[in-house]
Amino acid sequence: MGLALIVHGGAGMIPLERYDAAREGCRAAAEAGWRILRDGGSALDAVQVAIAALEDNPGFNSGTGAVLTDDGRAQLDAGIMDGATLAAGAVAGVERVRNPIVLARAVLASPHVLLLGEGAERFATESNIALCDPAELVTASQHARWQRGYRDGDDVHVGAVADQATPTLETRLDGSKKRQNGHQTSAAVHADDTKHGTVGAVALDAHGNMAGGASTGGIAAKHPGRVGDTPLVGCGFYAENGVGGVSSTGRGEDFIRLVLARRAAEYMGRGLPAQAAATAAIRLLSERIGGSGGLIVLDGAGHVGYARNTPSMAHAYMIEGMKQPFAGV
Ligand code: ASP
Repeated sequence: MGLALIVHGGAGMIPLERYDAAREGCRAAAEAGWRILRDGGSALDAVQVAIAALEDNPGFNSGTGAVLTDDGRAQLDAGIMDGATLAAGAVAGVERVRNPIVLARAVLASPHVLLLGEGAERFATESNIALCDPAELVTASQHARWQRGYRDGDDVHVGAVADQATPTLETRLDGSKKRQNGHQTSAAVHADDTKHGTVGAVALDAHGNMAGGASTGGIAAKHPGRVGDTPLVGCGFYAENGVGGVSSTGRGEDFIRLVLARRAAEYMGRGLPAQAAATAAIRLLSERIGGSGGLIVLDGAGHVGYARNTPSMAHAYMIEGMKQPFAGV
């Protein structure tokens, strides 16, 4: 069985001028994960490293650069699963963790599966994972979009990759007051309903072990406390040796209702090749509930598949024999 790794940078509508940055971000993340696999590392480590690279890239909706809640906060979700043991770890609604996937991995190594908000942040401290100032996760570009009310046409999947500036907490609080004074309409809140931007990865290592994970800021202008599919096993991510691994992106509520990552894995478990399973899962998403999004998969043999019903989905993959990752949108 050969090594394999696939990553995504979110399904949705990526503007043409950001295609290169989206592809490049995914390619770099795939390369980072691949180095782990190539050096004999575990699928879990490869998934964690690839996702952390995307979280650190302010052009993606996860970690630094995540979209904001309707009251202007970055509330982050992430999850990761070990296909060998079915151990899973996830966090939801964290605001002071630079790399939620690293915290999710620490949860995986604990007796817990999912930790929430302040409790998750306390667990980070207990696990020697440094907390950051919440303002450090908010890029100037996301802050500006939030202040405008995330109007239709805003890109919330892959923002300006060059955007490194971070507004101060005071700036955000000021902005929040402005919004409460009437700058936000309900139409604005829902303007991004068809736009997504989670990141994720699935990997197969030299020992035949599979892992999958995902990380997100969620949906733009989400209600504080709203949790999507990303930190939920079988919805935003899934991995099971010999069956397959999946990472989802899209309107989280749709993926939760269909438990779609698990369904895609089941298709592979019943013998569908990776690409056919991915396509079947997205067809179900469209036809059964009119849902929106995409997913990436590896089947038990390490074949790659990906599908979406959105205009684009940034992705990159590498399998044994390739000299460099293939990246696309
Ligand atoms: N699935 C994520 C969520 O609903 C959003 C996304 O994929 O962009 O939180």
